[in-house]
Amino acid sequence: MNEQIIEELQNIVGPEQVLTSPEDLICYSYDGTFTEHRPDVAVLPASTEEVSEILKVAYREGIPVVPRGMGSGLAAGSIPFSGGIALSLTRMNRILEIDHDNMMATAQAGVITADLAAAVEAEGLFYPPDPASIRQSTIGGNVAANAGGPRCLKYGVTGDYVMALEVVLADGRIFRTGGKAIKNVTGYNLVQLMVGSEGTLGVVTEVTVKLLAMPPAKRTALVTFPRLADAGRAVNAVLSAGILPATLELMDETAINSVEDYLHIGLPREAEAILVIETDGDEADASRDIEVVADICRQEGAGEVRVAATAAESDELWQARRSVSPSLGQKRPNKLGEDITVPRSAIPEMVARLKEISRKHDLPIVIFGHAGDGNLHPNILFDRRDPDEWERVQQAVGDIFAAAVELGGALSGEHGVGALKRPYLEMNLGPIAIDVMRNIKKALDPKGILNPGKIFPA
Ligand SMILES: Cc1cc2nc3c(=O)[nH]c(=O)nc-3n(C[C@H](O)[C@H](O)[C@H](O)COP(=O)(O)OP(=O)(O)OC[C@H]3O[C@@H](n4cnc5c(N)ncnc54)[C@H](O)[C@@H]3O)c2cc1C
Repeated sequence: MNEQIIEELQNIVGPEQVLTSPEDLICYSYDGTFTEHRPDVAVLPASTEEVSEILKVAYREGIPVVPRGMGSGLAAGSIPFSGGIALSLTRMNRILEIDHDNMMATAQAGVITADLAAAVEAEGLFYPPDPASIRQSTIGGNVAANAGGPRCLKYGVTGDYVMALEVVLADGRIFRTGGKAIKNVTGYNLVQLMVGSEGTLGVVTEVTVKLLAMPPAKRTALVTFPRLADAGRAVNAVLSAGILPATLELMDETAINSVEDYLHIGLPREAEAILVIETDGDEADASRDIEVVADICRQEGAGEVRVAATAAESDELWQARRSVSPSLGQKRPNKLGEDITVPRSAIPEMVARLKEISRKHDLPIVIFGHAGDGNLHPNILFDRRDPDEWERVQQAVGDIFAAAVELGGALSGEHGVGALKRPYLEMNLGPIAIDVMRNIKKALDPKGILNPGKIFPA
């Protein structure tokens, strides 16, 4: 990155928005994983036009550009392994419109998702996607990763809400795709092509999402199962009974014990599973549904069933599930949080295989996730400084992906492929799908400057 290019970038965004000191660049070299690599320069544009001008320079010079939201990703997607420009969207943080008539909101890509959710909520509307990182991630990052969360069982993932996008292409052209018309089958669906493209096809600068009316009531239950297989059956029985809870979250015994070690709140250490279930709707529906759910769980072999009577009690029940991730930090220096999906009915078998993989490689694996949609987060705990342990982690990851694919599942339900899962992509998608994807990438980014080294196998 020569002086002349730095000067060009400074002329576009102003000198103070072009960062080159090692101290500054360290901030743009991490995400939510244990990997890191410094960019040559971090650039913080304030408008779509500035993004476009930056990309024109990068395209002309063949400089890698890695779009970046809050860097909370769990697939090393925003790490600039090839150096180049870390393009931070965080200054583009304005909510542009809340359109009541059409029930839609438009925001710049760098808006923190929780801020968007709170702004629409203040007006009686509801933006359902709820990644656990909602306060540490941007709406642009959520679109690029197609983020999910507990509520996705009932309400779907980020992509289900994206109506329109403004995107800057690799060569700097600005294009808008989609709109506020609910039905639109005019041409290829370029909105959904961009969703989940992890910064490899374009830089998302503006997002329009659809909104729902806020459900007036919700009810929460925490259900303990002595046997995991019974919890699996209960999940299927609840859904087959025609009840669609907003969330249906699973913690296995490893997660239960990890939280109990951390919080000492009296969780049953000997239980094989806990389900945290939330129903919503109007007061009568939410209450009736949670009672039916509780009855079904009892019939399927639940031990204790606790139904929260108040919002404060509901918060208490959620504390166990919310504390799984923080509790892991105490156990080992590093964790690798995977994000596999399997068909719902295969959850007990997948959990059994994860326990076998844990034994085989002599590594603790803590299991929790979204039981309703078959999305599990096995977290491998390890010490990256120990080369033997790191080798075993990599073997365990390969075994986990192989098991998920064999059971009819996928490598990722919501975190994306990034850099970490790309060696395994072909195992899941096969060579033809990857060839199709490579051709799409080539058509949109012929010089390969956008987020190189991500998604595609080396
Ligand atoms: C504690 C914790 C909990 C989490 N919980 C969840 C969860 O429940 N569900 C879930 O889905 N994820 C979760 N995540 C992962 C992460 O928060 C999501 O992937 C989130 O969508 C990333 O947003 P970000 O703004 O931090 O993006 P970044 O991490 O900065 O980037 C993620 C990817 O998107 C690309 N990107 C970012 N912004 C843009 C843009 N404007 N245009 C084009 N590409 C862009 C990057 O290049 C990168 O490939 C969690 C992470 C942590 C640390």
